[in-house]
Amino acid sequence: MRTSIAVEEARDLVLSVCRTLSEETVPLAEAAGRTAARDIEAPHDVPPFANSAMDGYAVASADRGEPPRVLRVIGEAAAGSPWAETVERGTAVRIMTGAPVPEGTGLVVPVEWTEDAGTSAVRILRFPPDGAHVRPAGQDVGRGDTVVSAGQVLGGGAVGVLAGLGLGRVPVRKRPRVALVTTGSELVEPGSRGLRPGEIYNTNAFALSVQAERAGAQLHGAYHAPDAKKDLLSVIDAARTADLVVFSGGVSMGRYDLVHEALRERGFVADFWKVMQRPGNPLLFGRLDGVPVLGLPGNPVSSSICFDQYARPAIATMLGRSTVLRPRIRAALETAFPKPPGLHVFARGVAGEDGDGRSTVRPTGEQGSNLFTSVLRADRIVHLPAAWDTAPAGAMVETEAIDW
Ligand code: AMP
Ligand code: MG
Repeated sequence: MRTSIAVEEARDLVLSVCRTLSEETVPLAEAAGRTAARDIEAPHDVPPFANSAMDGYAVASADRGEPPRVLRVIGEAAAGSPWAETVERGTAVRIMTGAPVPEGTGLVVPVEWTEDAGTSAVRILRFPPDGAHVRPAGQDVGRGDTVVSAGQVLGGGAVGVLAGLGLGRVPVRKRPRVALVTTGSELVEPGSRGLRPGEIYNTNAFALSVQAERAGAQLHGAYHAPDAKKDLLSVIDAARTADLVVFSGGVSMGRYDLVHEALRERGFVADFWKVMQRPGNPLLFGRLDGVPVLGLPGNPVSSSICFDQYARPAIATMLGRSTVLRPRIRAALETAFPKPPGLHVFARGVAGEDGDGRSTVRPTGEQGSNLFTSVLRADRIVHLPAAWDTAPAGAMVETEAIDW
């Protein structure tokens, strides 16, 4: 087991044991937020046929000439009701937006550029160029185009394009099943009853389950154990069939920090314990029958930040996502941040701008790992590198925009 390792090394070790899960197909209506398992090619053109972009008259290209010009109106084409016959020179078809452009015509004259010329005739007051207001087949998507790439998270845009292609089901990665295990004899389920002396409510069971779902996972189960070996052993047995097991609490140096010991009794192999970071120094990671197990320190900020920095990319790797880590946004520190030397700090920050429009970031306030409102108020995680002895105002740092 490695100990007191750097953040980057810890993350590499975690990700190196995560395998991409198998795929399944889901109805399009349930595809948002899922990760595409394969490239998806367009089975046909969108739009599937040339159609009108305007309400007006479809005319033959050869009829363009000096206006005004009177054409005989031989019929009508509306969205969903094509005009099936060929249009000869000297005639026109009244056409609505989205209707197929009839055979023989090459442009649409907007209705605003025309006037009635008796029954079944139209006077063209002005001609647009040849091809005007005709949307060609395949203008948006060509048959065979790759519209979605493997590893892409499906958002509204992708779902809309797939709908336009008539695809009712989508191949996606199975959602990793995450077992969340909170530990601590002091913890009480919110809403269940009032607190007795020494008790607190269980923050992490709730905060982490939100983060797990936001990360693209599903809950295998939310378990809780007091700080007693036999209870820990039984939750380990329930949790170990998940794709990822996440413990909160009980991984530090206290007399009742029994998670590691209980895991070892079940065959757990530790890869590392303790990372040169704040919050979350006592982070534990290893495998139980090949299943990755993270032991997050119980302070709510430590739990949330460590979940974000280690479990979230682990889940993204299992989902086969093309982007596992969030993009980093550079910003200048508005004020000095507290910075112990030798530790990588994941500070909680609020994004801003200086007078010249450059990105800045300021602390959410006190940064103690027990102060969960520092997460509540944050829209950025601010990375302060381990090598820095201080983090003075004006220093340029990398940040991540957070959304949980
Ligand atoms: P531990 O890592 O178990 O030593 O816990 C560190 C601190 O976090 C202690 O003050 C615990 O009471 C607190 N804590 C542990 N788990 C939770 C939890 N699920 N919700 C809120 N606070 C917790
Ligand atoms: Mg504890």
